[in-house]
Amino acid sequence: MFGKVRVLFGLAWRGLTGVSFRLLYKAMRLWVFKGLYALRAYRRRVRAGQLFPPFLFFAVTNACNLRCRGCWISAGHKPDSLQPEAIDRIIGQAAKHSVWFHTFLGGEPFLYPPMWDLIAKHPECYFQIITNASLLDEATADKIRALGNVTPLLSIDGFARQNDLRRGEGTFTRADDACRLLKRKKILYGVATVVTSANFDEVLSSDYVQHFVKRGAMYLWYYIFRPVGANPSAQLSLSSDQIVALRRKLLTLRKTQPIVLIDTYWDAQGNAVCPAAQGLGFHIGPKGTIEPCPPLSASCDNIADHDGDLFETINSSDFLRNFQQFVHERTKGCVILESPAELATFIGQQKACDVSGRDFLAELKSATPHPSHDLPGQEIPEDFWFYRFLKKTLFFGMGGYG
Ligand code: SF4
Repeated sequence: MFGKVRVLFGLAWRGLTGVSFRLLYKAMRLWVFKGLYALRAYRRRVRAGQLFPPFLFFAVTNACNLRCRGCWISAGHKPDSLQPEAIDRIIGQAAKHSVWFHTFLGGEPFLYPPMWDLIAKHPECYFQIITNASLLDEATADKIRALGNVTPLLSIDGFARQNDLRRGEGTFTRADDACRLLKRKKILYGVATVVTSANFDEVLSSDYVQHFVKRGAMYLWYYIFRPVGANPSAQLSLSSDQIVALRRKLLTLRKTQPIVLIDTYWDAQGNAVCPAAQGLGFHIGPKGTIEPCPPLSASCDNIADHDGDLFETINSSDFLRNFQQFVHERTKGCVILESPAELATFIGQQKACDVSGRDFLAELKSATPHPSHDLPGQEIPEDFWFYRFLKKTLFFGMGGYG
């Protein structure tokens, strides 16, 4: 018991002393409290049979300066980018449905300059920027601090050797320097780590978590590797034993580390969740296409449909609703991992467009099925009240049905 109390005091102390009070206040008001309203509105919509998520993912561009193994993005010769006016319109529409939290990802969002005006134009919203951090310099950090309604999420997949094996030579050092910079600027930020069979023991060690505690990160977000893209690297996929061990290690680290450790795979009872199948967050691609989730590069809808009325487009999307049914009939976990060939058939039957810039269906048809986070009979409930509370009320909607 005392350990958990110490963890919470440590977390609160780090927030109050390590993050600018103005930025902390904005995060609590715009991300946490408005997040509660957003999820309440989302649950009302679910009960009314309406489909519209509590937050949105904007792939502002597919331009990127890195070529990570297992990445689903293919920029091709001329990268695609969303029109800033379209993003601005959608953010305004979404607020009318109590949606104020938006994630900007890519490619590399720092290669999309219009992003700063969009964030400045919407002080009532909170933005998360998922970045490889290689372009996060002093001037960028100053912009983030000045705006205040932004939290960068830095993609780092291990210490130098493991990270650079996947992301490229020197990328760890650049990202780690960015962590130091954000700490010095007292900016609220997080680290996103993809867990693979290669970096498993390292990234789930207390040394790894402690490294980012010392670097001033306030949250660490764990993802399970998905072998997708032009270079899927399927050998990096996790076994079912590793997925159960990941869950156990996560629960142990949560009771010992003064940093918020996030997963979007399990609810408070330890039941598996597919966020896309729950309508929790759809992905708007750089061409304006609307996909179930970032690595699932197929779509039947575009933000230009219904005269640009995003609510009408998503709520009336047969593809997104049929995708939910397709998942519910098979798993609580990830169909990309468990049923790639069936998913290819489903996408074909829906006459959905392949928006990957490659041959996504051929990739799915030739992919080997892998276990995902739905492991019936091996559910492990949250054993720390703080995370049960977060999962039930806030944690990215995990409580929306937990
Ligand atoms: S299909 Fe897989 S990757 Fe997509 S949201 Fe569901 S669990 Fe996540």
